[in-house]
Amino acid sequence: MRSITTLDLQYAHRFYGFKGEAQYLHGHTGVLTIEVEDSIEPGVNMVFPCNEIQKTAWEVLKNFDHALVLREDDPLLPAILDVYKAQGIRDGAPNNKMMGPAFKTELATAYPECRLVVTKETMTVEGMIKIVYSLLKDKLNIAKITFTSGVNAASEEFEPANKIDRCPLCGIALNENGVCPKCGYKKK
Ligand SMILES: [Zn+2]
Ligand SMILES: [Zn+2]
Repeated sequence: MRSITTLDLQYAHRFYGFKGEAQYLHGHTGVLTIEVEDSIEPGVNMVFPCNEIQKTAWEVLKNFDHALVLREDDPLLPAILDVYKAQGIRDGAPNNKMMGPAFKTELATAYPECRLVVTKETMTVEGMIKIVYSLLKDKLNIAKITFTSGVNAASEEFEPANKIDRCPLCGIALNENGVCPKCGYKKK
């Protein structure tokens, strides 16, 4: 069975070098749907609590919200960084609080202090699915990711690889010692 959660991401990007309107900087509200698959944990009669999937995903993905996403070779990148620097917001601002931990993967690097994500490939809906999967595959038993942005949508199915032990009282993943980080339940 699957537990499914959805979250919104508001971001700006462009398709550098693309012969179409999308080569100009523009913004979207993207809708990301994550489907997690496993057996039903009988104690809570759930695969996984949807709000916990959302929390786990948001912790990393909030770096994409109200962010600018640019490809690493886009000449806008140094230009924007120069403006942010001159304005004194390159290394943070007091009201930039919604920051996740900085991350760097093969496909994307997040600079939460200035709400920027630099990608290796153009951030299409397909590109976003690859990035999201690489960021969350070890944390969640992902079976499917769908990303919709404007008139564009893509989805991909994955083979859920992990066998995650869950708390029979809260449904969330037990830590490496078999203890629930929320209620303290210990696996026997
Ligand atoms: Zn777009
Ligand atoms: Zn628990």
